[in-house]
Amino acid sequence: MALVNSQYLKVSQDAVEQEIAKRVNVLTVLNPKVDFIRLDSGDVTLPLMPSVINAMLSSVHEMSRDSAFKGRGPVRGYPFLIDAIVKGDFKSRGIKMLPEEVFVSEGTKQDVASIGDILCKDNRIGVLDPIFQTYIESNVVGYRAGILEKNRHWSNIVYLTATHEKGFIPDLPTERPDIIFLSYPNDPTGVTLTMSELERWVNYAIENKVLVLFDATYEAFISESGVPHSIYEIKNARKVAIEFRSFSKSAGFTGLHCGYTVIPKEVKGYSIYSGRNVFLNDLWQRRQTIKNNAPSYIIQRAAEALYSEQGRREVKQNVDYYMTNASMLRAALDAAGLTYSGGVNAPYIWVRSPWNSSWKLFESLFSSCRILSSPGERFGPSGEGYVRLSAFANQNQVMLACSRLAEFKF
Ligand SMILES: *Cc1c(COP(=O)(O)O)cnc(C)c1O
Repeated sequence: MALVNSQYLKVSQDAVEQEIAKRVNVLTVLNPKVDFIRLDSGDVTLPLMPSVINAMLSSVHEMSRDSAFKGRGPVRGYPFLIDAIVKGDFKSRGIKMLPEEVFVSEGTKQDVASIGDILCKDNRIGVLDPIFQTYIESNVVGYRAGILEKNRHWSNIVYLTATHEKGFIPDLPTERPDIIFLSYPNDPTGVTLTMSELERWVNYAIENKVLVLFDATYEAFISESGVPHSIYEIKNARKVAIEFRSFSKSAGFTGLHCGYTVIPKEVKGYSIYSGRNVFLNDLWQRRQTIKNNAPSYIIQRAAEALYSEQGRREVKQNVDYYMTNASMLRAALDAAGLTYSGGVNAPYIWVRSPWNSSWKLFESLFSSCRILSSPGERFGPSGEGYVRLSAFANQNQVMLACSRLAEFKF
């Protein structure tokens, strides 16, 4: 019989999801007539914007004509989209980026989970805690996490713990990892780093020869100045950092799937086999050629449309809608006397449980306010004691949630 990769059986996240399902089930049985409001999801709710729809429709028509039909596209993505990305996301911020450094993909999740393909499994990784669990789980199934210890910690992972006392910004690691995953604006805490804070991480990476994997999925939600939108705003980050970007949240592409990964030409790793340094851009190109296809022509045209004048305006409206939700939620949490972070540069609000128990706040929000939240355990061991509220909901629902919250005193 074929042997399976048993690492998949060790990913503990299922246990948390089952616990959530079980508790929701119990609460709905106890409160049968409840019209509860879902603020637990990281998925968007607004429909696709007109610029995206128009670009898709016209590319579908193009595909129906002999002269304009497109078969298999370039592995790295179509030049029209790569050029729009280089100009719209980097040149516009004074960042030098070559088209060959951009790889169009079906989104950040799969690239974050697959980047380990080009990295030796013996690397020690540093991961924020709490965090989007793909970072942990992809390394568990890729045999890079070691063994599961008490407190849900994996032995070969350096946890970069974000605590309330330090504004959810972790200290630099005392034990050196080979690779560090950073994600700002952060899901779930909603916090960001300032230029000088991110500079500290980049300098640490350069001094210690650490590869930085930077997830900038939520950059479009940044509203304050002085917050870097790209890690390449930091001098010399090109030497050590890979950046992941996604259209999922900013443009509602969770059902279309498109994003991109940037690997500057300078980023290197070491090969034990050849005894030499190797450029990661070359390796990733090879990996993509072997395993991957870029998104369809239609989807890439849809993504290109986001960089048009109309597209930009509509993305901004989209982001503003969710961030209005976030600010209403913050005001309601203030009125309810709850402590939280986020909701200013990210569509998530990280709420501290007055009882230091996520589950107790989760149940209280559900039974008193009929709001479904996301318990912190979903985001790793340090999520305990918090719940995440998402601003990705319909505005009327959010208003209703706010009025229920404001009436409640915790
Ligand atoms: C939602 C989310 C993503 C999105 O990934 P896609 O595959 O592009 O949809 C990536 N990173 C974080 C931290 C997220 O919360």
